[in-house]
Amino acid sequence: MEQQEILERTSIINVKNKLHLKETFSTKDTIFVKCPFCFSDKGTMKLDTTENSYTCKNCGANGYAIGLYARNKYITNHRAYELLLQEDADLSNNLKTSIITSTRKNNEELDIIYQSFLEKLDLKPEHIMELIKYGFSMEDIERIGFKSIPMNEKERISICNKLIQDNLDLEGTPGFFKDKRFRWNFKAHKGILVPAKESHRIIGLRIHLDNLYDADTSDIWFSSSQECNGSKILNNIMFLYPEENSIRFMNNKELKDIIIVSEMILAYKIHLYFNNNIVIGVPNVVSKKELKKLNKIQNVNEVHVVMDKHTVLHNSESLLANLYKIYPRRKVTLHFSLKDGEIPGSIEKLNNDYNIQEKSA
Ligand SMILES: [Zn+2]
Repeated sequence: MEQQEILERTSIINVKNKLHLKETFSTKDTIFVKCPFCFSDKGTMKLDTTENSYTCKNCGANGYAIGLYARNKYITNHRAYELLLQEDADLSNNLKTSIITSTRKNNEELDIIYQSFLEKLDLKPEHIMELIKYGFSMEDIERIGFKSIPMNEKERISICNKLIQDNLDLEGTPGFFKDKRFRWNFKAHKGILVPAKESHRIIGLRIHLDNLYDADTSDIWFSSSQECNGSKILNNIMFLYPEENSIRFMNNKELKDIIIVSEMILAYKIHLYFNNNIVIGVPNVVSKKELKKLNKIQNVNEVHVVMDKHTVLHNSESLLANLYKIYPRRKVTLHFSLKDGEIPGSIEKLNNDYNIQEKSA
């Protein structure tokens, strides 16, 4: 399918029409419609046609086009994507101009592409061994979705072709680019692909490198900003929530301890042991702006920061400087993981305390 066709069929304007959402008002690139979730009489839901996003100012529902369709039809985002592509786009609307050109992928689209991508990759035996040494079980490895990047170019191009055959548009997807012969390809670094997730959605892929990139880089993003038709990834942080009922947990008024971990792979390991806490994985270089996402967790009691060896040696200052802008120093406790996958003794003790509290409660 042509890229333009995919863009039109997955656009918020097409979704609006497929769901028969009633337009009440429109401005330059914004359409207001009646919200299908809170059934408010007024046009409280705002559709942003350049971002392909929606927000209802009455009930707070928000997200992107594919998710809006999925939520209305009670289906997964992946299924919504398939269904939307099956029918011609209906782009009728009251805007003066509506040319759909944005190729930057939003989190829903990235999730669909990265999920399909990871399904097509294997995990090499040496990486399985490494992850087991790190402390993950085979079940953990499956569930989290670690994979290896193929080093063979033909294999990479063939994987891209399969994704394109599945009607996935690779334009605007960090990690993918077009080679000199205009074939889609993706970046190859020897290492383990670590999915960075938010609410079970893959928002980016981190690479835990087999060999240090230069003297001080052990983990990098799967990104292709320097390449033809390539894209840069945002420097995401990821939230790993307690197993059950993350939303209730986020909103309850109880004071909670959170654990911030640099890097992602260590964050997954720590989450295995602290699955009653919110664990936040952060890249070893993280911006102040990205860390502001932490503000969505209310009623934070104590902040435990666990740093891997690389972060301790090279990036602890910038991480801490940015964290202290969000939390007062007295709330922050530091822990160091100096060997691969090691859970620092100081925080392990904390886990025991938790278990004792829980049992006595
Ligand atoms: Zn609403």
